[in-house]
Amino acid sequence: MIAVLDDGQASHDLTHGQLPCPTCHSPLRPWGSARQCPVRQADGSTRQVRPQRARCRTCRHTHVLLPAACPG
Ligand SMILES: [Zn+2]
Repeated sequence: MIAVLDDGQASHDLTHGQLPCPTCHSPLRPWGSARQCPVRQADGSTRQVRPQRARCRTCRHTHVLLPAACPG
């Protein structure tokens, strides 16, 4: 899992090969999305989140880009 502060910037960096793999530091590539899941908010409501996934071509690990606002 990779926590991202700005979804838009993370998506841009991922698409342009500027997001490094936390395992081997090679550039990650988009790899679809993780399953949608409910995330409880501070006010007690829930929000549906469908995080992006990324895959490293070098070590072949996949990573989920989870918005930092979601509790881990
Ligand atoms: Zn890697």
